[in-house]
Amino acid sequence: MDKRLQYAPCGYISITHEGLITDVNQTFLDKMGYTKADLVQKHLESIMSMANKLIFHSYFYPFINLNGQVEELFISLKDSGGQSIPYLLNGRRLDNEGTEIIDCILMQMGKRIDYENELRSAKKQIEEAYLEKDQALVKLKQLHMEIEQKQAELMEMNALLVELSTTDKLTGLKNRRFFQEKLEEHIDLYRRTGQPFSLLIVDIDHFKKINDTYGHQTGDQVLEKLAGILKAHSRKEDVAARYGGEEFVLILPNIDAPESKIIAENLRHIIAHSTWETGSLTVSIGIATITANDSDATIIKYADKALYASKENGRNRVTHSMELLP
Ligand code: GH3
Ligand code: MG
Ligand code: MG
Repeated sequence: MDKRLQYAPCGYISITHEGLITDVNQTFLDKMGYTKADLVQKHLESIMSMANKLIFHSYFYPFINLNGQVEELFISLKDSGGQSIPYLLNGRRLDNEGTEIIDCILMQMGKRIDYENELRSAKKQIEEAYLEKDQALVKLKQLHMEIEQKQAELMEMNALLVELSTTDKLTGLKNRRFFQEKLEEHIDLYRRTGQPFSLLIVDIDHFKKINDTYGHQTGDQVLEKLAGILKAHSRKEDVAARYGGEEFVLILPNIDAPESKIIAENLRHIIAHSTWETGSLTVSIGIATITANDSDATIIKYADKALYASKENGRNRVTHSMELLP
């Protein structure tokens, strides 16, 4: 064999039509750890795994017979240590003075396979990173939802706390603190826009006697029922609150003095004609309607004075503070 071919930068093997190796160059022998004697007169398939033999039979021979050549056949050959070395094989059928020979050159594929493996592993890592990113996003979304739910619960809880802190426990009406706030708001509104309102103080007559006669528990039930009547006869914008003990207050927006008197009389009448397990029950009512110089303290004072007058004049009656003016 020509010396240049002997050490060409690729393997060279010459085989017969049946696949018997007739010649092999030094580059291939060095790479694979064989001597020439190891391979010559051996079948090329003797250094192939079973899978590679199958490929060789089903691809190499039919192609070489049909086309006279095979290009870029990917095949692994076993070196002297039994390790598979991947090659790209090009073969060409030649007629050498009546004898058919097949020349094959073999380019080692190690580098390319390494690159492919690295590429595959990098791709896998990218896919894993994407998967992790997706999972992180799902987790993030989940956390967002949990936070939103917790916030909604917190707001609900806050609303409930506000409700509780402004509600009278026994009667379910608004409590004195809420009333005080609303009274100040309505005075503010009156000063800014001139929208009037009337304030009613409703006090049960001789309530102490009910407690003394029927017991505190029955007294409580009476307070609850009266609160129910006040609530039932209030408009949406009215504020009905328990001022303390057996005293209730009503803020009636946009209600002037004459109207407030009618409303209060109506309430007094309804209460006096309701059925009570304690027999009859009456209330006395004092009213004040906002005027230019009023503060929250003065309007309460006027309504209270009017209530006192109702009590003084025999109870079960309504007095407007204006009636008391000299
Ligand atoms: P007047 O007609 O002058 O208003 O007489 P009164 O008996 O209604 O008024 P007084 O202020 O003398 O008594 C109020 C009573 O209300 C005294 C108190 O024991 C009772 N009371 C206050 N809060 C409650 C309560 O939550 N439940 C019950 N059952 N009684 C209460
Ligand atoms: Mg009373
Ligand atoms: Mg009282």
